[in-house]
Amino acid sequence: MWIGIDDTDSPAGMCTTYIGAVLVRRLAQAGMRILDTRLVRLNPNVIHKTRGNAAVSIEVAGDIEAAFALASACVEELAAFDAAATNPGVVVSRARPPPDFYHAALKGFCTVDEAVEVLESVGARYRGYKNRRGLIGATAAIASDFSDKTYELLAYRKRESWGTPRQVDAGSLFYAEEMTYPHTWDTVDRENGVVVCVPHTPDPVLFGIRGESPAWVRKAGSYVDSEEPACEQVYITNQGTDAHLVPGMVGALREGRSYLVRGTVAGSPTTGAGGHVSFALADDGEEVRCMAYEPTKGFRDAIRALIPGDVVVATGSYKGGSLNLEKLGVVSLADAVRIRPPVCPTCGRRMTSAGREKGYKCRVCGGRSREPEVERRERLLRPGWYEVPPTARRHLARPLVRGIPAWEEAMLRPDRGCARDPYR
Ligand code: ATP
Repeated sequence: MWIGIDDTDSPAGMCTTYIGAVLVRRLAQAGMRILDTRLVRLNPNVIHKTRGNAAVSIEVAGDIEAAFALASACVEELAAFDAAATNPGVVVSRARPPPDFYHAALKGFCTVDEAVEVLESVGARYRGYKNRRGLIGATAAIASDFSDKTYELLAYRKRESWGTPRQVDAGSLFYAEEMTYPHTWDTVDRENGVVVCVPHTPDPVLFGIRGESPAWVRKAGSYVDSEEPACEQVYITNQGTDAHLVPGMVGALREGRSYLVRGTVAGSPTTGAGGHVSFALADDGEEVRCMAYEPTKGFRDAIRALIPGDVVVATGSYKGGSLNLEKLGVVSLADAVRIRPPVCPTCGRRMTSAGREKGYKCRVCGGRSREPEVERRERLLRPGWYEVPPTARRHLARPLVRGIPAWEEAMLRPDRGCARDPYR
């Protein structure tokens, strides 16, 4: 059977993955066999999320009534019920719901009624608390279908430490990354010299190590010097897979969805207040504003190096009329040329225009020239992919160290390749 839980935390504490870890232990103590533990990230643009829009799914063999009782008791004991926006959902089903609901919750928006309809259609046991919104994430979690997956080792703090500063040696995290990268990633951000895997929120998470297999995340975890964790849980996850992205067209992007969009740079990038960099991306007579926010640090240098005429593929979420960049693929570079009046060969002064289609004239000696000066500037950018640094990466965004999936790479080809959603 599959057990799904969601919406158990608040900004003041708790974490659905922690409840999942506790439940895994209680199910095992009750003699049930754990087959799969999933950390399922859903649409990062839903407004009701507490932090990263995560839900948990546990596949387990055992008695369904006992499992439902244990899951409900766990949520009732641990969820942050006092917070107005915490609306837990618990679902248990012998049949796995069709993956459509997962894809809808990952890429779009769903309602509680839609979740309930799915749950009824598979004869699930379910309980939604307060406004029952958590049923959406819990249902999507058990319906999840990963065409690509990564792993995360989550270490949790002892209860008496919750809310106090975390004791994790930063040097040991840099060492863990050094010893296991590229099989693990985003433990630290070496370029910016910051720790990424230790949260600053008052929840039970001590640290989380992301990587390509349970063995690699455990190996990285073994190097970490920290306060003693209460427990650890390795989850299979859709983090770092770009599962939220669908191919999109400039002019046909929908609010709160995440896309891979191809187009031509239509204006020089500008740096606005706060250091946010933006440029206009055009295709077929339509334009969209692309944003690289200040926290994306050095990624903004790649964006600033774009010029009108460059052909690029941009990935990110479309929110408030902007595509918030996660990655950028440079397909082709325009020639960077500066055309201006030539220098007079006689007196060495720069000429001025002699009038429309009349060439150039030297105001000093009266010399004339028909041809302008064409200065070709070297481009610092190269075709290929650029990404935000680990410190600014969203959970679902696939790091370049994992390679580029074929359907995304195909968007870089001149014939545009596959423009169909590969997850459907
Ligand atoms: P937690 O650790 O508790 O899971 P979180 O950051 O993941 O924290 P939640 O507190 O779970 O966020 O809040 C997200 C809420 O949005 C949940 O109630 C979930 O059911 C709901 N939700 C998730 N995806 C969608 C979606 N695509 N459309 C509508 N609601 C969604």
